[in-house]
Amino acid sequence: MKQSLTLIPTLREIPADAEVRSHQLLLKAGFIRQNASGIYSFLPLGKRVLQKVESIVREEMDGADAVELLMPALQQAELWQESGRWYSYGPELMRLRDRNDREFALGATHEEVITSLVRDEVKSYKKLPLTLYQIQTKFRDEKRPRFGLLRGREFVMKDAYSFHSSQESLDEVYNKLFVAYSNVFSRCGLNFRAVIADSGAMGGKDTHEFMVLSDVGEDTIAYSDSSNFAANIEMAPVVMDYTRKDVPLYELEKVKTENQKTIEDVASFLNVTPEDCIKTLLFKVDEQYVAVLVRGDHEVNDIKLKNLLEASNVELAGAEETKEVLSCPVGSLGPIGVKEVQIVADRAVKSVVNGVCGANEEHFHFINVNADRDFEVNQYADLRFIKEGDPSPDGQGTIVFAKGIEVGHVFKLGTRYSEAMNASYLDENGKSQPMIMGCYGIGVSRTLAAVAEQFNDENGLVSPANIAPYQLHLIAINMKDEMQSSLANELYKELGQNRFEVLFDDRQERPGVKFADSDLIGLPIRITVGKKATEGIVEVKIRNTGEMVEVHKDELLETVTEMLKNL
Ligand code: ATP
Ligand code: MG
Repeated sequence: MKQSLTLIPTLREIPADAEVRSHQLLLKAGFIRQNASGIYSFLPLGKRVLQKVESIVREEMDGADAVELLMPALQQAELWQESGRWYSYGPELMRLRDRNDREFALGATHEEVITSLVRDEVKSYKKLPLTLYQIQTKFRDEKRPRFGLLRGREFVMKDAYSFHSSQESLDEVYNKLFVAYSNVFSRCGLNFRAVIADSGAMGGKDTHEFMVLSDVGEDTIAYSDSSNFAANIEMAPVVMDYTRKDVPLYELEKVKTENQKTIEDVASFLNVTPEDCIKTLLFKVDEQYVAVLVRGDHEVNDIKLKNLLEASNVELAGAEETKEVLSCPVGSLGPIGVKEVQIVADRAVKSVVNGVCGANEEHFHFINVNADRDFEVNQYADLRFIKEGDPSPDGQGTIVFAKGIEVGHVFKLGTRYSEAMNASYLDENGKSQPMIMGCYGIGVSRTLAAVAEQFNDENGLVSPANIAPYQLHLIAINMKDEMQSSLANELYKELGQNRFEVLFDDRQERPGVKFADSDLIGLPIRITVGKKATEGIVEVKIRNTGEMVEVHKDELLETVTEMLKNL
């Protein structure tokens, strides 16, 4: 493609509203433009990268025996009402009405549409397993669209759904797609980890997220420093062995702690450590209130709480609510004497000996508090967030944290949708059974941004060869120079005939502008035609390493073929 004929509107300044590197560079290099908050146009270069990522996804999905189809983005409300998600999905689902006042949603995901389709078309166990996928634009009215393509309101997703007559069959396909996903992200050049995840609002269990390691990631990954264990921090189990110190138990005592607000304040005022304190928090769990206890140096993990109580919604109660339910200000909460609500506690609480807790009375705390003696706990469980330095749950090494961008997600859904929507098949005995399902997503446009986040330098993008918009950037320093222009045109033709993807900067621009744009766009190899055109010599430079060689035009094909092989 001749650069004079395409649209690559590069920018020299960093756009003011772009906070992260990938967003800044995709705008600066002219890959994307924002239309409205979280809504983007893919300009020619961005569109080419998107297509390359899509091709890799297609190859790997097809290789795993998944079959492509395309479903509508416009989905009738009735389907979402059947699954129950019309009410539970919340404001993220974009809703609209047609001219006859019928309600619709813009597809945020396609479990409902695919389940209704397969319900109508597949009746027998003989047609199972079946895995279908599509690559399509999704719509989610995100609360905080940000970081460019990383969290958009309109974005490209690959979503796949599998249907089975047995759990073993689901396990098999899940494992196959797990491998396919690993291949996709490896081929995009990404440094990623597959981590154990929470199934969230999707229902079902046994899920993994594919996380690209990056400081701008919104998720925290807890991983072992010496094994393969990696989990979303939401899900990482704590396997500490808490033993209670064998010391005499002292008598419970109420003490004045005027104006000591935080755990740290109270601990230092009473000359103890946060580990000696018991923190009490009131949560609203669906329609009930529950008091949750953790040790002073720990934080409540609301996902673990939600899973433990099999709830669909868990929220920290506000100050007003707390006052109403327990007649006490938030800062003074404690478990002693609480009868109004159920008490659940993290396992570490049991090990606190002669500890400190709030007295349910402003400016007062109890000291010498011992669980089970001074208050009763309805249930002990693993309820806290794992911390760096904790032992890894697989028994090997200790936990460290990293930030990750979720680019893919695989779930075992089970029968959540097939039961709600009546998708069943006849088994070998002619008996009707609900289909067992899996679902699998890749954020295609988010992957593109994740690559930009991981591959750049101070001058611009450094595109991995597999998904660069073009492989070669051919530049003629001075197009007005007859020799240069004719050699560049000759090479452009020859490289094209040999199936290289070439972007040819044939513009009448100053060399400085051409080189700066070229660095910004970051194609893997740059071929510069300059003064030595008279001798038939050009300069070949690798964007990633900066390595540069001069070659004669007759050796160019061989040189770039070799270089691309090694990139
Ligand atoms: P997140 O936790 O980031 O909101 P999610 O759990 O809502 O993601 P899924 O419903 O599993 O995401 O969607 C499948 C994939 O689609 C995700 O793994 C992610 O890569 C991508 N994705 C989700 N939301 C967005 C978005 N707003 N913009 C771009 N990609 C997205
Ligand atoms: Mg989301």
